[in-house]
Amino acid sequence: MPNIAVVPNTTSSRDILLLRLSILVGGVLIALFMIGDLQLIPRELAGAYITNRVLVQLPILASLLAVTFFSQFRNFAQTAFLGTVLALTYANYYVIHVSWAQAGFSFPYEGTLLYAFFGFFVFGMKFYYALTAMLLSSLGFIGLMLLDPVYGERTWMNAGFVVGSLFIGVIGRHRIDRLLGQLEDANEQLVALSTVDGLTDLLNRRALMSESERLFALQRRSNQRLAVFMMDLDHFKQFNDHYGHQQGDQAIRLQADIMRQVFKRQTDILGRYGGEEFMAVIEGEHSDRFEFLAAAVLKQWQERAVPNEDSPDSKVLSCSIGICQGLASEFDSIDDMIRRADEALYRAKKQGRARYVIA
Ligand code: GH3
Ligand code: MG
Ligand code: MG
Repeated sequence: MPNIAVVPNTTSSRDILLLRLSILVGGVLIALFMIGDLQLIPRELAGAYITNRVLVQLPILASLLAVTFFSQFRNFAQTAFLGTVLALTYANYYVIHVSWAQAGFSFPYEGTLLYAFFGFFVFGMKFYYALTAMLLSSLGFIGLMLLDPVYGERTWMNAGFVVGSLFIGVIGRHRIDRLLGQLEDANEQLVALSTVDGLTDLLNRRALMSESERLFALQRRSNQRLAVFMMDLDHFKQFNDHYGHQQGDQAIRLQADIMRQVFKRQTDILGRYGGEEFMAVIEGEHSDRFEFLAAAVLKQWQERAVPNEDSPDSKVLSCSIGICQGLASEFDSIDDMIRRADEALYRAKKQGRARYVIA
């Protein structure tokens, strides 16, 4: 498959901005819960509760917000999410423990689920991180319930509810990850379908033009040399008529194979311009090299000696090549270079085919 510049599927700056916003929303939610909780909890717990929320949980969120500004954040985002969710969850376990130990108060457990689900679906934790969060949160909760039977006869029912809900969240995350994976695969296939020529596996005309424009702009910025090769099979109509369309397609594929063998650099842009016309756009320091490459294409056809009996010239299949080369700044546009290469190709045809002509 040809090399195409596809927008990489990484977290965009917009995603990071949304993440920061959602962290802020998380902070606001914690603050709002504080108002509600303070009405609910016994007075003597207020101090410990406020300390936990203001000096532990909000700073945990603030730390996550701060690390999103690191340039390497993308590389450790998942670990940061896992750490944040676990830290918040265990800070909440501490509140539950202290409420029970100091005042015999059954502090609600639902925060455990809220923190985990916030991590799974708002932060976008991946399946294995979500699973790890679920296992460690569940273990912590069960440990806490063994230590303090906070919810009386409902203690184990509630523990089951916590573990079950976290499990459902993890399964949800797994499904989302799978769907996203399928979507990414489908997207890759679509990109391939819309940029690759089905017969030759070279770039199709549209991708060929956009990639060439990109290379032209790049070479122009750094004032460097490039070359456009237009190639067309000789007396191909006779070949098709004599050997049939399928053999014709085979010959078109052969031209593509020859091009891949000759133009080997990663940066070489190879495409099917139309029918049995091909284009190569390459960068390079010297015009000698361009001539060498054109000669190599012609030589490959000679060596393969594919018969073309009805050809009025040579009785083997060949191609003609028109080359336009120079510093990018010497041309108006890539279209300008293509037009000149086309004119050179026309001259090569006129001069007897199976040759290259430089514009
Ligand atoms: P010239 O040397 O001047 O190029 O002569 P030519 O006969 O090759 O003329 P031209 O370049 O106009 O050839 C076009 C022919 O290419 C007509 C058509 O039958 C054939 N052709 C175009 N696309 C395909 C294709 O996808 N498959 C096959 N088998 N033939 C094709
Ligand atoms: Mg032709
Ligand atoms: Mg043609």
